[in-house]
Amino acid sequence: MPGKSMIMLATVEAYIKSKTKRVGKCLIWQGGKANPNGHFNYDGEVGIPSRKVYEHRIGPITKDKCILHKCDTPRCVDGRHLYQGTK
Ligand SMILES: [Zn+2]
Repeated sequence: MPGKSMIMLATVEAYIKSKTKRVGKCLIWQGGKANPNGHFNYDGEVGIPSRKVYEHRIGPITKDKCILHKCDTPRCVDGRHLYQGTK
C-alpha cells in the first residue's frame, strides 16, 4: 500500500494523465483553449500546465526561471521536452 504522499502524487498524476494526450513525441495539454499554454487547476493549485507538471514530475523551478520547450510546442508538458531557462 502506498503512503499518504504517494496517494496525493497518484492523484495529481491521474489529473495530469486525464488532461494530456500523446501526440507524436509530445504530451499535449488538453482544454483551456483561451490560453495558449492551457490551464492547470488541481486541488486549488492553479497555473500554467508546463510549469506545474515540471514541478510535480521533475522538481522545483528556480526563482526567475521560465519553463521552455525543446520542441517549441507551448502546450507540451513532456518532462523530456521541458527545461528551465530565461526568456
Ligand atoms: Zn514536446
